[in-house]
Amino acid sequence: MERSVLSIGSNLGDRLTYLEAAVDDLAATTGIAVRGVSSVYETPPWLPVTDSRFYSIVAIVETNLDPFSLLDTVQEIETRHGRTRGLKWSPRTLDIDIITFGDEESSDQELTLPHPLAHERPSVLLPWLELDEDAKIAGVPCKELVEKLDCSGIVRLGRLR
Ligand code: ADP
Ligand code: MG
Repeated sequence: MERSVLSIGSNLGDRLTYLEAAVDDLAATTGIAVRGVSSVYETPPWLPVTDSRFYSIVAIVETNLDPFSLLDTVQEIETRHGRTRGLKWSPRTLDIDIITFGDEESSDQELTLPHPLAHERPSVLLPWLELDEDAKIAGVPCKELVEKLDCSGIVRLGRLR
């Protein structure tokens, strides 16, 4: 079993319901066990084009799937919940990114590990630290990474359900 950290976000439609559905679908997948789910964090939009704020959570899972099968699985869950692939960064019902997969490192465009932008996203680091205060990306503590970022405007909402 490998441990994988997932970032799950939504900024379109009934955002909390999409996040809940994603966690339920992960838990119902053979070969995936959900070990932890963070609180929901609200991020102000950094582009003026989006009208609804991003809600994000981190889920820690254990899986016996290989990294690409996990990617297939999360993309299938996105599609099941109305995710369409329009313009880059356009509003989406559900986005599930693989932040880390064990200690795997990959520069493959289709699956880059660790996720190339995770270290600069408070919306990933804050919920992850809530679940694991020793979280690290490529050996660098997330606590140190988050100190360098502007986290003003990000609001911790409650837990799901
Ligand atoms: P984004 O998450 O960047 O807003 P998408 O969810 O549409 O955009 O993903 C675009 C592509 O990113 C996917 O088709 C996938 O193959 C690729 N990708 C590369 N690395 C990762 C990763 N670590 N997690 C999820 N997708 C990834
Ligand atoms: Mg994505």
